[in-house]
Amino acid sequence: RVRTRFAPSPTGYMHIGNLRTALYGYLFSKSQNGDFLLRIEDTDQKRYVADAVEFIQNTLKAANIIPNEGPDIGGDCGPYIQSQRLDIYKKYAEELIEKGHAYRCFCNDCSEEQHAAQEAGDAKSFGGYNRACRDLEQSVIDQYLAEGRPYVIRQKMPLTGEVTFHDVVHGNITIACDTLEDQVILKRDGMPTYNFANVIDDHLMDISHIFRGTEFITSTPKHVLLYQFLGWEPPVFIHLPPVMGKNEDGSISKLSKRHGATGFSQLVDMGYLPEAITNYVALLGWSPKSEQEIFTMDELIERFSLEGLSKSPAVFDYNKLDWVNGEYFKAMSDEDFAKKSSAFGGIIAESLGDKWTYLASLLKTRVSRFNEIPEQIGFFKDLPDYDVDLYNNKRNKVTPEKAAEILPVVIEVLEKVQTWTPEGIDEVLQPGVAESGIKMGTFMWPARIALSGQKVTPGGVTELLYLLGREESMKRLNLGLT
Ligand code: GLU
Repeated sequence: RVRTRFAPSPTGYMHIGNLRTALYGYLFSKSQNGDFLLRIEDTDQKRYVADAVEFIQNTLKAANIIPNEGPDIGGDCGPYIQSQRLDIYKKYAEELIEKGHAYRCFCNDCSEEQHAAQEAGDAKSFGGYNRACRDLEQSVIDQYLAEGRPYVIRQKMPLTGEVTFHDVVHGNITIACDTLEDQVILKRDGMPTYNFANVIDDHLMDISHIFRGTEFITSTPKHVLLYQFLGWEPPVFIHLPPVMGKNEDGSISKLSKRHGATGFSQLVDMGYLPEAITNYVALLGWSPKSEQEIFTMDELIERFSLEGLSKSPAVFDYNKLDWVNGEYFKAMSDEDFAKKSSAFGGIIAESLGDKWTYLASLLKTRVSRFNEIPEQIGFFKDLPDYDVDLYNNKRNKVTPEKAAEILPVVIEVLEKVQTWTPEGIDEVLQPGVAESGIKMGTFMWPARIALSGQKVTPGGVTELLYLLGREESMKRLNLGLT
């Protein structure tokens, strides 16, 4: 049975690259009728970060990536939070000692700092651990234990030979064992390191396929040795190339703040729809091998395959995300769009009341994310200071002088409107223009400028009149004469 997992550390932030890892694991498991689980890897944390776990769960939910096992759901392989599994890690660390694949290290010439660096995989900067405790006499070990000396447990790396594993994206990878340090697997306080807990849990949770970023590829040989030492079958490895951002000089580097928003929730705050983000992220490093770019989650599940994974890094393209999001907007009902965008409409949306849906329907095709809305509608609240030059329009043969002649006609016609609705306004406006003998475009241009103080508006004159209301419209048209 295919079982995948998302195993984040609780940081209170979900980078787009992490979201993609979660998504691919989810899509693959679902495409195979398998399971997808969430496991929290919090052993590096000084303490358990409850909010961060909730944040991860909420983010996955918003992105419609729904685990079927996890901290808040439960399941047969729990607990799903590593800091709650310390007894399990201890048991397997002891087993490795017994089998001769790990040892207690009592060195106190390893400072805390040195331990920390080694645990973080940064042993090289200290020249690696000198293996002083690797072959201690049992009597010495017993004596130290009796004295109550603190110790860490280290993995005993083979001194010769090599370790090879297969990666779905990168093919076979081989590493000489003598390049591997005797890494700490259990710290003095009983906390496991990532490299150890990860292996134990992936095995006990029956994970068949591991999706994670390429940054973990250098850890994988150590994991593979642990699987061997414990007599376990390693899962299939899929290391995903990183998500990159484009720099100003055209080069690319790992997607980070300087490229723009990189967190899922930041993008949501900017007014991208979660489903559009998920859709776009699915295409960052996976190709459906067709022209189609807009996919529902069910379609993604149906189409996803390991063969479509790209070997080269994907570049996050904000314009493309805008486009995808815009497509989702266009497909939304006016009511749905109005509801979801109202927070971005702010007090204008509030004061328009029922008319907000009407304005929203005009905005729906004009914006590619909700945070473009405020600048589109600001003039509804305050008519901007505009220059009479704005009345100049060659195509419609309008000048400020001409506008001053046309606006009184517009006002005269509109005074006859009985019901101030789009239909009621049009009913009077259309014949009014015809009667005036003024060309449609020439008639409307000064009205649009006077009503909005700008050349481009969501909707035409009728829509503006309706949304502004009779009183405000007349006020602005009269003001336009001065
Ligand atoms: N806890 C690791 C992370 O933060 C998980 C890596 C893995 O999936 O093995 O990304």
